[in-house]
Amino acid sequence: MQSVLVIGGGAAGLMAAVTAAEQGAAVTLLERNEKLGKKLYITGKGRCNCTNLCSPDDFRQNVVRNPRFLYSALEALPPTALVQKLESWGCPTITEHGRRVFPASQKASDVTRALERQLTQLGVRLRLNTRVAGLTVADGRARGVTLETGEVISADAVIVCTGGCSYPSTGSTGDGYTLLTAAGHTIVPPKPALVPLTSEAAWVRALQGLSLKNVRLTLWHGKKRLYTEIGEMLFTHFGVSGPLVLSASSYLAGLSLTECRLELDLKPGLTESQVNERLIRDISGAGRKHTQAILRGLYPERLAQVMAELTAVDPLTPASELRREQREALAHAAKALEIPVSGTEPLEAAVVTAGGAQVSQFHPATMESKLVPGLYAAGEVLDVDALTGGYNLHIAFATGYCAGRAGGVAI
Ligand SMILES: Cc1cc2nc3c(=O)[nH]c(=O)nc-3n(C[C@H](O)[C@H](O)[C@H](O)COP(=O)(O)OP(=O)(O)OC[C@H]3O[C@@H](n4cnc5c(N)ncnc54)[C@H](O)[C@@H]3O)c2cc1C
Repeated sequence: MQSVLVIGGGAAGLMAAVTAAEQGAAVTLLERNEKLGKKLYITGKGRCNCTNLCSPDDFRQNVVRNPRFLYSALEALPPTALVQKLESWGCPTITEHGRRVFPASQKASDVTRALERQLTQLGVRLRLNTRVAGLTVADGRARGVTLETGEVISADAVIVCTGGCSYPSTGSTGDGYTLLTAAGHTIVPPKPALVPLTSEAAWVRALQGLSLKNVRLTLWHGKKRLYTEIGEMLFTHFGVSGPLVLSASSYLAGLSLTECRLELDLKPGLTESQVNERLIRDISGAGRKHTQAILRGLYPERLAQVMAELTAVDPLTPASELRREQREALAHAAKALEIPVSGTEPLEAAVVTAGGAQVSQFHPATMESKLVPGLYAAGEVLDVDALTGGYNLHIAFATGYCAGRAGGVAI
């Protein structure tokens, strides 16, 4: 009987262990924590947005790094198949806006429980509080692992599902990178993704707590537009956050900040000349009102003050006395306000890790190493990451599924 060791009891490891056991393999799941699925537990604010029922093309468009590596995995376990599995394992689901899927109970722990029940039914041996410290490779093949206690466990296949290195309190501290490096693999340097951005600009900090809806955020790399979307963002005490900013941060990962520019369009429904016309209209009906009254008609109070400051317009100038260049500067700032970014919050605060095991060294249909037969990797430990919406968990489940399906079968 094929013996399989799965390292890590997160989304990828749980799915890999269940799937390998379904192939008839003798599977042992090794998890360093005292329980399974610590990160799963906090996903989707405790509700676990476990997948997204979009088309494969749409899915890959939401994958920031190495979407093409996922062709086979998404074919092997498309979102509908994952939902069917979860439901047949006793975890009914609901689909919300944006085709985001959650457990119907709205409890992330129910997803872990459903997988745990499968592990038990299939006779998977579970070893908690068990940290793997090394891989055994002999005669060019993976032969097992060494635990941090020095214990050696042999197996025919080893599946590394140790996650990335964000939110390390959940157990994902980047051990997989060390294990795979020792086996000859290349690790693309880990960087924070889906992470708030920091700014030193006084005006950004002055807006802390302000949340904006229906604005467009665009990330430029030189003249190339890397990301643009309409949605929500938030000013914080350290910079900017919110859905648009987190997504933009994923495209920023690994790039030099000096070559990038974050641009905010406060009026995405209007062109710059339409904003200008609106200003002209407002000014002509304003009588002796101050400019700040006009700006308050366009923006929340604090933002109105900042817009005046950034365009060097005295808010107490009577609107009718605004010079044409000043009005045009206000219209331009409404459409293309540059947010100076000084960096990102650290990896610890990132929702996912960009970077990880270089995917070209793995077979995309099986997740088996091209360098060390019998060695597999799945989930966030790989250099694949996506935007929010259930994609990252689906990647973990689908790659775990491929690794378990291939690793569970004797060669
Ligand atoms: C706050 C937050 C919210 C999120 N929300 C969502 C969401 O709603 N939807 C979504 O799609 N994605 C979400 N994500 C991302 C998603 O959680 C991860 O991409 C996914 O969990 C990765 O799964 P994984 O199995 O590869 O790794 P992990 O879930 O990180 O699991 C790795 C496991 O390996 C164990 N381990 C590590 N090293 C060792 C070792 N040496 N020996 C033994 N065990 C080891 C760890 O303890 C851990 O249990 C969220 C992430 C965060 C931080």
